[in-house]
Formats: sequence, C-alpha cells, structure tokens
Amino acid sequence: MWQKSHRNARRTFPTGTPPIPSPYPLAPSPPPPPMPRAVAMFSGGLDSSLAVRVMQNQGFEVDALYVRTPFCSGVDDSAAAARSLGIRHTVRDVGEDYVEVLCRPRYGYGSAMNPCIDCRIYMARMAREFMEELGASFVISGEILSQRPMSQKRHHLALVAQRSGLEGRLLRPLCALHLEPTLPELSGEVDRQRLYRFDGRGRRPLLELAEQLGVTVTPTPSTGCALTERSFAPRVQDLIQFTPDPTLWDFALLRIGRHTRLADGAKAIVGRDQQENASLRAMAPQGDPDRTILLEPANFLGPDALLVGPDAQAHVQTVATMIVRHTRQVPEDGPPQVRVTQGKSSTVSEASMRV
Ligand code: SF4
Repeated sequence: MWQKSHRNARRTFPTGTPPIPSPYPLAPSPPPPPMPRAVAMFSGGLDSSLAVRVMQNQGFEVDALYVRTPFCSGVDDSAAAARSLGIRHTVRDVGEDYVEVLCRPRYGYGSAMNPCIDCRIYMARMAREFMEELGASFVISGEILSQRPMSQKRHHLALVAQRSGLEGRLLRPLCALHLEPTLPELSGEVDRQRLYRFDGRGRRPLLELAEQLGVTVTPTPSTGCALTERSFAPRVQDLIQFTPDPTLWDFALLRIGRHTRLADGAKAIVGRDQQENASLRAMAPQGDPDRTILLEPANFLGPDALLVGPDAQAHVQTVATMIVRHTRQVPEDGPPQVRVTQGKSSTVSEASMRV
C-alpha cells in the first residue's frame, strides 16, 4: 500500500532543478494510428489524379487500381501519374467474363462499340474486391457529373455504385457535392466540406485546382480505349457477328494487324510492321489450337499472319498468298515458302504467287 501511494505521488521540483532521471527504461511511445485507406479507380488522367490528391489532403492513404482491358493503352501513363502522386499502383486485368460486357452489355453501347456503363460496373466490382483485400474503407473515382454522355449522368453514377456492390462506398470527390453523401461522409471519416462540385466538360477549373493542389501530371483528355473509336467499331461488330463464342483472346487480336474476313467464318490477320508480327507470334500459342494457325515466311522477308476460324486449314493457301502479296522481296531461286504452325505441329508449304 505504501509502495503504491509512493509510486503514484506527484513529484514536484523546485524551479530550476533538473528532473531526476528515471531508474526504469522509458516505455516506447505507441506507434501512430494507421492512416485511413481508400482505393482509387485510377486511369492516371487529370480527374483521377485530382481525386487522389483531394483524399490525400484529408489524410488518406490511397492505393491506385488500374483495370486493364485488351483495348487500353494507358497503363504506363497511369503508373507514371501514380508515382508523381507518391501512391502504390496496382494493375489488374479483366477476366474472361468481361466478354459478356463486350457482347451483351445490359446498358448498351455508346457512340461506338463502347459499353461504358457495364464496363464501369465491372471495374467498380474489381475495385470493391481490391478494397476488401486491403481492408480499405471505400473506393474513389475521378468521375465528374455530366462530363461524359454515356456513363456520367446522375443516374449512371448511382447505377454503377449500386450494381458493383459499392452503394454508399463509391465516393466521387470532384462532384460529391452534387450527389447524396456517401457512408464515409455521413460518418465524418471524410470531411464533405472539403469535397467539390464540378460538373460538365470544362477543363479550365480542373487545371486551376491541379495548380492549387500541386498536381503536376495533367495529361490531355483521352479515354485511351479503342472501343470509343468509331473506326474501330466495325472490327468489334465483325467479331461478334462471325464468332459464336469469342474469347478475350479474340478481342485482344482486334488491335493487331490488317484483318480480312474469309469464307466459313475464318479470318486472316496480317502484321503491318515488325512489332505487329512479333505480337502475332506471341499471341498464336495462346489461341485455341483447333482454330488457330500461324503463317511465317520461310525463305523470304515478309509479314507474319494469323489464321483463325473453325476450318482454318482450308484457308492456308489463301493466307499464304496474302503474305506473298504484301512482300516486295519474293525469292528469285524458287517458289516462296511459308512455315505453317498449328499447335505443336509445323510444316513448310509453297505459297502460290498468283494474286
Ligand atoms: S472508355 Fe472503354 S475502358 Fe472506359 S468505361 Fe468505356 S469501355 Fe470501359
């Protein structure tokens, strides 16, 4: 009893007397509480970068998630933007079930073959899974009300949150003041007063905010998605029309080479430069061996070609002739030959020079 009251007695020292050093080691100070965490659906464009910075300024640790489709070209820019914001950057590829989004979008296509609403729902679902894995509280995106006609109307934003399972947990910091408060705003975890009320397509106010918040990477606006290009749409339509059960691999091929539809639902894809030839060679082993044949010039310089279709063998000679047609250097000492590879078997055939 005496010891306890002695230990707890308040010590006082005369003014100017240095404190007596404690005979016991000081307990280490407790670690600071972990920063609250959010996941950003992150393209690396101006809007998603601003959304991240707004949340960083509220003390959140943000993890960027880039969902890659076969039609996206912005992954490197996205990684660079994440680096400049000092956040982790994770890339995840869409799965085979994304084909359903491409072929039968519940909410239709935009001005080209872009199923943006279904695609946003799909990506928000992936963000929810990532959020749950990390133990983060919510997901943010840089969407701005009415900025894009296909997917950023008020009811589209609500639909994406609802159908992705993120209702109340998908926060759009740049237009939040136009929308119902989300759960983190209602709980006070996020200060709603420090969110924004942007709408429409104007870029100047966003650039001003970027300057104010020190966001230095401000790329020019672009979806970076081939599906939004009208010139790309016929390829997508052709694939859906002629291939009963296309795979993600079939869709990934759409960005490579010159495509020619042949009889019986077969298709020839001829490389237009060395990079495309290399891409066709890399893609060939990933295709269904029963319907995929790679053709490469064997004794001359020319493009490679991929032949895809249910009865592909029937078209080997046609595609070999196409390869010859696209070369300027046919051999002088004999007929041009083409290596034909299907699955693990490879043969060499003479190509007809008749066009
Ligand atoms: S632009 Fe492309 S990636 Fe973006 S939501 Fe639309 S379909 Fe999806």
